[in-house]
Amino acid sequence: MDSFEELRLIEPLQRSIRDEGYTKPTPIQAQSIIPLLEGRDILGCAQTGTGKTAAFMLPILQRLMETRKVMPRSTPRALILAPTRELAAQIGDSIHAYGKYLMLKSVVIFGGVGQQAQVQALSRGVDILVATPGRLLDLMNQGHVRISEVEIFVLDEADRMLDMGFIRDIQRIISKLPARRQSMFFSATLEPKVVELARTLVHDPIHVTISPETPTVERIEQSVYFVDKDKKDALLVKLLTNPAMSRVIVFTQMKHVANRVSIMLTHAGIRADAIHGNKSQGARIASLEAFRGGRVRVLVATDIAARGIDVEGVTQVINYELPNEPETYVHRIGRTARADASGEAISFCSGFEKSYLQSIERLIRKQIPVVLHHPYHSTSAMNATGAASRPPPKGNQQRGFRKSFGGPKNRSGGKHFGHGRFRK
Ligand code: AMP
Repeated sequence: MDSFEELRLIEPLQRSIRDEGYTKPTPIQAQSIIPLLEGRDILGCAQTGTGKTAAFMLPILQRLMETRKVMPRSTPRALILAPTRELAAQIGDSIHAYGKYLMLKSVVIFGGVGQQAQVQALSRGVDILVATPGRLLDLMNQGHVRISEVEIFVLDEADRMLDMGFIRDIQRIISKLPARRQSMFFSATLEPKVVELARTLVHDPIHVTISPETPTVERIEQSVYFVDKDKKDALLVKLLTNPAMSRVIVFTQMKHVANRVSIMLTHAGIRADAIHGNKSQGARIASLEAFRGGRVRVLVATDIAARGIDVEGVTQVINYELPNEPETYVHRIGRTARADASGEAISFCSGFEKSYLQSIERLIRKQIPVVLHHPYHSTSAMNATGAASRPPPKGNQQRGFRKSFGGPKNRSGGKHFGHGRFRK
């Protein structure tokens, strides 16, 4: 399957796919979309990074459009359960992206924040509900949401749900779903307890396995450099003396860091540009074109800005800062192994990012090889444990402020270092 045109998707979906910059379906999309459009259940064994969200979301959007109906308030037609707030939010984002030319309403609910805004959103109408299990049960028990009319049910990352102890919650939720529905079940592994849960959920499903050898992560050569925060600029410049690094995406957590790093690189004589949410769509497209065309060698990006970037031949992804959500790491490094190419992912890890590194290694189920022999190696970062390996609590935000060092002066006078991730 070489094109989305062959997948019988309606024009508004084709258009949003083009807007995202996707040119051809990933294997899981090629295998799942048509059967799901026909109403089949699915048992999918696939990790994040394979394109599975679009594989289930595009058919959901299309099926809901084909049978549009007016529903009572707080009564979704599709329900997607995800284990974490981050994943739920990402799924919500993909509904906005893929469904932007459709008039469907979606709501994302998760715990850890007040429920009032979520309850209000539900009462304004909801076709698609994305939820973490605990908060969904809370709101169901209070009568703020009814799942008795759900036509399509998705359980995403089932293995993680079980690892996180959600089995009881999931069973309670399933017991309230109507028997007649389409069910989609996804898990990175198919260990016995996962299969047991799947059996209670899906009926005569198609089986799609994207084998662990094929997800992009496996084809990417990964490494980590332990380095103190104030040496990251120097390490980056040093790495970029290698001319083989010809088309590089550098990821930062925050927009202002992306700007600062891009300016620092430019001062060091390296052709770089930053893309982030504060730039206009036009400016972002211009930066991307320059990067594609080879006029810009290093693109410094934040995660949001990088959504949907599909550039062939990215030689390296460098994580200047590690993401605090491990899924984001998988998304980032996937940029370097597009279309069957292999790639390289390099991560900088300072002491307080050590706990992020550990979460990432748990998710990808492997240890990332450490590069020890470089001039900026930090033994204290490598050995950081306990409190030193975690970012300071939120209350420390302003105290965590530290001025810029070494590199070119940042334009906003260093103010932007006052966010929670920097230690004293
Ligand atoms: P997922 O496995 O759903 O988390 O998706 C991984 C990443 O792949 C996301 O950043 C998507 O935007 C991107 N993606 C999904 N489908 C495609 C496609 N057909 N072509 C290029 N990128 C895609």
